[in-house]
Amino acid sequence: MTGEEEARRTLVAAGLSLLETGLVDGTWGNISVRIDSATMAITPSGRDYRDLGPGDMVIVDIPSGEARGGKPSTESPLHRAIYAARPEAGAVVHTHSLSASTVAAARREVPPVLDDFAQIVGPSLRTAAYALPGTGAMARRVLRALRGRTAALLADHGALALGRDMAEALLCARIVEKGCRVFIDASFIGGAKPLAPVEAWAMHQVWKRKYSRLAKAEKR
Ligand SMILES: [Zn+2]
Repeated sequence: MTGEEEARRTLVAAGLSLLETGLVDGTWGNISVRIDSATMAITPSGRDYRDLGPGDMVIVDIPSGEARGGKPSTESPLHRAIYAARPEAGAVVHTHSLSASTVAAARREVPPVLDDFAQIVGPSLRTAAYALPGTGAMARRVLRALRGRTAALLADHGALALGRDMAEALLCARIVEKGCRVFIDASFIGGAKPLAPVEAWAMHQVWKRKYSRLAKAEKR
């Protein structure tokens, strides 16, 4: 959780970071950060990240969807649903990055192809069944695909990553893109040989516990 001003600045910096790492292009994708249990800040609809300042971010009431300070991203309902259902989520990053979109177009489930992927994403990366963007059906399908995981793909659309803070959500988005790229490329040389599901699950649990201990230590 974070104050409103800090949330606005976090979104500006995260948007630039996504551009720099090539995960978003122009106005595509959207990011949000939780302010408290009932409030989030999100990027506005259809604006280029290069032109956004802290004052352009939109404050949204999570239960009602009521927005203050502009028109929120059209995918605001998806972000709200995630904060409501996943209390540990402090930030959400939605991208249309290339390799993740390729796997989403093929509607495949990515097994734990690398150990960093297993640690941060979980035992696999599922693709949520297709639904029109911005609808309640999309939110429900994505939440189902996210169970036990910190990321999901959206069929024929893109990727969604969450974290307990923005740094973790950005890291997750980068690991998703890398894992999808490796999954695709490995298919040309005989296919990826993933970790065993139980190993991947255990690595994810260890990483979550270790991370939360570090986060607690930092707050002291
Ligand atoms: Zn999208």
